[in-house]
Amino acid sequence: MSDCIFCKIVKGEVSSYRIYENDKVLAFLDKNPTSPGHLLVIPKDHYENLEEISENFLAEVVKVVKIMGQKVKEKLNYPAYNVIQNNGKEAGQIIDHLHFHVLPRKSDDGLTFPSGQEVKEEDLQEIQNKLIR
Ligand code: 5GP
Ligand code: ZN
Repeated sequence: MSDCIFCKIVKGEVSSYRIYENDKVLAFLDKNPTSPGHLLVIPKDHYENLEEISENFLAEVVKVVKIMGQKVKEKLNYPAYNVIQNNGKEAGQIIDHLHFHVLPRKSDDGLTFPSGQEVKEEDLQEIQNKLIR
């Protein structure tokens, strides 16, 4: 896609700190990292979101996510990392080119996720009924 910033990064038209790539997938440093070493892993072809990409291509992307998680631990000495994938603008997706965040984590890094809420059993059941049909 010609006006997509991540497609431009793939083509080298926009500079980035490339960490790993193969013929299908690229991993590079996020330019506004949430923690040092925050990486993005993308398919080299343009897919907007998880629904658009084929299972086979997605598997190739996730393989690189796994490699990057290992690298973050082994090379940057983090004990842990989050894998985050924002799917849709209401979920925080700003760049419309499918990407996985690999977010290095350590204790007391100050990063938090919204905490869960109490819910009634019947509400869980109602949602289960909707999702399994
Ligand atoms: P989203 O909110 O869409 O899941 O995340 C997009 C991510 O892409 C953000 O963390 C943002 O910092 C990163 N980003 C946006 N534009 C660029 C860019 O031009 N270069 C790099 N390296 N990262 C970018
Ligand atoms: Zn793109």
